Amino acid sequence: MSTPTKTHPELSAVFNKDEQRVNWHDETLWWIRQKRDKSAHSIPEWEILREKASQIKNNALANLAEYLVSFEEKAKANGIIVHWAADAQEHNQIVHQILQKHGILQLVKSKSMLTEECHLNEYLEKQGLEVIDSDLGERIVQLAKEPPSHIVLPCIHKKKEEIGDLFHQHLGVAAGTSDPQILTEAARVHLRETFLTRKAALTGVNFAIAETGEFVVCTNEGNADMGAHLADVHIACMGIEKIIPKRKHLGVFLRLLARSATGQPITTYSSHFKKPRAGQEMHLVLVDNGRTVQMGREDFRASLKCIRCGACMNTCPVYRRSGGHSYHNAISGPIGAILAPNLDREKYADLPFASTLCGSCSNVCPVKIDIHQQLYKWRQVIVQEGYATSSKKMSMKIMNYTLSSPGIYRTAGKAGRWVLKYIPFAVNNHFNPWYKQRDMPEVPKESFGEWYKKNVK
Ligand code: SF4
Repeated sequence: MSTPTKTHPELSAVFNKDEQRVNWHDETLWWIRQKRDKSAHSIPEWEILREKASQIKNNALANLAEYLVSFEEKAKANGIIVHWAADAQEHNQIVHQILQKHGILQLVKSKSMLTEECHLNEYLEKQGLEVIDSDLGERIVQLAKEPPSHIVLPCIHKKKEEIGDLFHQHLGVAAGTSDPQILTEAARVHLRETFLTRKAALTGVNFAIAETGEFVVCTNEGNADMGAHLADVHIACMGIEKIIPKRKHLGVFLRLLARSATGQPITTYSSHFKKPRAGQEMHLVLVDNGRTVQMGREDFRASLKCIRCGACMNTCPVYRRSGGHSYHNAISGPIGAILAPNLDREKYADLPFASTLCGSCSNVCPVKIDIHQQLYKWRQVIVQEGYATSSKKMSMKIMNYTLSSPGIYRTAGKAGRWVLKYIPFAVNNHFNPWYKQRDMPEVPKESFGEWYKKNVK
């Protein structure tokens, strides 16, 4: 167990120093949320699809062991080499051993949040291997030596001028270039060379079908396909919760995924991988890393239904104005704040509190996860288990004492109204973080209790 050097409020304060960036980040994500709404509203059966997806995932989780065994059996029969990893360390070792067996020192990798969760890049680089991320957003944050800040839009926190500077430094584009077309062309040339020279490609997995032993990878750039089709060795890594029972269920998820993520009707590439092509080796690594523990927690089991669309991030008022890095976890935003405490309660005790509990995340979730309810439940667990900060514990004790003693509550109310009326500077000062951003309320003449006593006979 480890303690973060900085918490969500502290990291948010860093992000909030650049007001212009915060506003633009907020507006861009809200624009994507609106695109999602438009796209969802164009399908009359949208709510039926959400319900179906939720039920399919409930079924998959309830029968996960059977579906995983069936999937493994079919995948092996198709010629895929299947591995099981209990945790991140084992996952990283398996990938390393596969590469070692082939004497491969360079890997091209498409977007995989699982490998971010397992810190695969850092692990392989420590072993002397070179990893190049081929998703454009991922490559940008890799060049900036930063983690992704969003699961679908990894470099959404970066301005095009900053990307221009990075490409000038690493890819040799002219200084001061910020035209997205020119920058994309430069990345294309750079990545094309990578695809042509790498012997191994790693991809994520969006859906794994128990019935057929095949898996599906969704991208907009075709980078997963390009890597996997050109490499001698294809390694696909997936969390065990990615299983769906049958191929016919795929249509439900594909219709929901891209619309929820970016408002597109479908991802540009939804590629099915069933067996290695002649002469190729295909590996699949199935990873637990805390998922079975989360399965055992009834209140939080539904978080494993997530299809990683990012809609809960795009709509979250806290995420939009605090940025993905403030969550100090591979998966940020509301769903990350539910998944992270499962992995390390102490390190991520701050995350369930990074929410207004407005419920917008639950409203947009395509698989109907009760996200805000789970955040609220995590808060209770974290406090009960003693992981809340001492200032939060103390303030909650004072609140509890005050709110449960009518006499003290009335006296505190009176004192507060007196202070605000006669010595407002005692609270309206720079020591009060509330006052920095907001106007203090107008002082009422009397409390509701006093008014009620006078007026209700
Ligand atoms: S929790 Fe729901 S909305 Fe959030 S990323 Fe997962 S599927 Fe999408």
